[in-house]
Amino acid sequence: MPINEFVTIQQVLEILNRMIEEDPWAVNDLINQRVVCGKKLADDPTVQVGIKHKGENSTTYEVGLLGVLNGLFGIDSDGWGAIAAVYSVTCKACSSNQPVSTKVGDPCTRCGAETVLGDLLKFEQVRPLPAKNEWILEKTKDGVILKPPPTMPSELADAMISQAHKKLSSHTEETYCAFCQKAFPLDGTAAEAVTEHIKTCEKHPMRAAEAKIKELEDENAELLKKLFPKARKA
Ligand SMILES: [Zn+2]
Ligand SMILES: [Zn+2]
Repeated sequence: MPINEFVTIQQVLEILNRMIEEDPWAVNDLINQRVVCGKKLADDPTVQVGIKHKGENSTTYEVGLLGVLNGLFGIDSDGWGAIAAVYSVTCKACSSNQPVSTKVGDPCTRCGAETVLGDLLKFEQVRPLPAKNEWILEKTKDGVILKPPPTMPSELADAMISQAHKKLSSHTEETYCAFCQKAFPLDGTAAEAVTEHIKTCEKHPMRAAEAKIKELEDENAELLKKLFPKARKA
């Protein structure tokens, strides 16, 4: 395989699962291996770091290979990454493997003893990729931010953002005629100006009604003229 510039989650899963086939014990040890790390790394925006010990005054953190791999692919809005390690649940007392639905700590289905985490079985993707061209809501330390789709060129994303800003600020500075979209500055006179405009707005439905009234009045006058040719207008 040549050297890749890009790698997908699926490709990483393929490699990790191939590694399990090649040597399950080594991969088990490798994934279970954790290194103590500082708060700065624990606060990394995408790398997943676990809490090793939560003391009253200080907390110690640890990072492992899976946290780093997940860090490459970013996190979902809930803060979790895409790749999960799936383990079996097992009973130490009678060394029987438990059904897939068993949670660690549940009683053993055979002897009733407390179950523990078993072997690493496989890696799988637990979070879908965002749809193409979909803007992504991302949770950060400073709150939720909206990020452009990864496939979108940054110039296009910037243009869309500045256009949205323009539109937003125009909505706070101006109001519009709902019929012809004519803009009015949102000062103290906006309501009056719109009311005045509505009376003459070409697109307002009243114009059609007025035209119809005019047409009917003319028709009426014609008929009256025919019926009473001699009658004079008062
Ligand atoms: Zn058991
Ligand atoms: Zn109008």
